[in-house]
Amino acid sequence: MKVLARSRASRHHSPHARLQSALLALVLATGLLTGWPASAQAAETLVDELPPGLQVPTAALPDADFDVERATQAYLDLLNPEQKARSDAYFEGGYWLELWQVIYALVIAALLLFSGWSRRMRELAQRISHRPWLYTALYGAFWTGAMFVLDLPWLTYVGFFREKSYGLATQTYGAWFGERALELGIELLFFPILLALLYAAARRTGDRWWLWAGAITGAFLVSMAMVWPMYLAPLFNDYTSLEEGPLREQVLSLARANGIPADDVYVFDASRQTTRISANVSGIFGTTRIALNDNLLDRTSPPEIRAVMAHEMGHYVLDHAQRLVIYMTLVLIIGFWVVHRCLDAALARWGRRWGVSDRTDPAGLPAVMAVLALFFLVATPITNSIIRQAEAQADAFGLDAAREPHGFASTAMRLSTYRKIHPSPLEEMVFYDHPSGYSRVHRSMTWLAENLDDPHVLASLAEAGFEVGPAAEPAPGPSTESEGGPQTATGAPDEEAGSAPE
Ligand SMILES: [Zn+2]
Repeated sequence: MKVLARSRASRHHSPHARLQSALLALVLATGLLTGWPASAQAAETLVDELPPGLQVPTAALPDADFDVERATQAYLDLLNPEQKARSDAYFEGGYWLELWQVIYALVIAALLLFSGWSRRMRELAQRISHRPWLYTALYGAFWTGAMFVLDLPWLTYVGFFREKSYGLATQTYGAWFGERALELGIELLFFPILLALLYAAARRTGDRWWLWAGAITGAFLVSMAMVWPMYLAPLFNDYTSLEEGPLREQVLSLARANGIPADDVYVFDASRQTTRISANVSGIFGTTRIALNDNLLDRTSPPEIRAVMAHEMGHYVLDHAQRLVIYMTLVLIIGFWVVHRCLDAALARWGRRWGVSDRTDPAGLPAVMAVLALFFLVATPITNSIIRQAEAQADAFGLDAAREPHGFASTAMRLSTYRKIHPSPLEEMVFYDHPSGYSRVHRSMTWLAENLDDPHVLASLAEAGFEVGPAAEPAPGPSTESEGGPQTATGAPDEEAGSAPE
């Protein structure tokens, strides 16, 4: 699901305390950055994707001695060593990117403050208007523009070249840049308003401003969550109704069964930008819509699609959008409190040099952003865990709703194109905002072990072309205890990874 809080918070930001050491770190960072991408590009060829069609290894087929661990391992073994190495490299590289990104942001903030550009942008805004809310909004627009330019080298590397080198991006640079320009336009529309509100609160609420700032930003996130799917997402992709047919009916049936008010299923052309598969049930407070991307539709099988859609519906049924907004607002309030504690100290020390009078002066925004960037870096394990736990709930919901353990496990394996499949538990806790592929496959196989003879599971395997025998008498207990399990698939595909026509 889209988490606006995180993507916003972790992108543009900048610095404060210990600027000298930040600058030193920058020098180190640029040295490392120039050397570092080479290793990423070394793995030249694309991750060969898993073949189309439902992927079910033999060890995961219904069998009298079905074993959760063995089935899980068999799924993980669908990735060849090269694919695994490449996926690990891509994802682990992301850990470092989070750090470099903050360092980069700190340097930009230092640049804006110490060069006096931030002060000059505020002076220019004040020449246009003396009304505080207006010059604050104008400053917000100037800052957004300046950040776009200063951020572009970083964004070009992370968002374009790196994605390209891993075969994840499908755009030309021109098309990619056009979308960034469009995002800039959207930010220019919204950010100045948010900033004017935040500084108005700072001027009026004294030492409690951080509480208001958190609440206002939280409300802003809610409005973006409402506006995005309906009005902004269509600027980047074409949304069309999924064509009539069994799949559409199955998705809508799943929606009706779970009380989701939707009478249409949308497909959007994400293949325009990326090779990643995804879907969402987005919106909040009555703007719900069910959408899946064309990569999911074209490159996976119906059981996988049903599994993914049921997961997304879990987010809706479990009120995740609302709950995440609340959690993130609390995190933001803490973040603004940290800003409150740091900003006054920083201004006492550097305020004259920066030309920033006090915390209600928007020219101090780079310092605010710098503190927030550091705060969100430190809070990464917490924010990731908040989101990851919601994802794990949606996983459990999706398995129960769709009854497609193989579809879900198969999709989890496909996501290894951009997410390391089997991290250590600590690594997962700190860096993962979704459960790892291993966790998801294991969860699917655990569910399957309790439902080996489920008619839907067997029918789904048969639909995907696997030969499964008629179900035997119901298993009396967890089938890892083997006897009493359902009839095994005789003649299941003899390949390790039996791929099957849809
Ligand atoms: Zn999700």
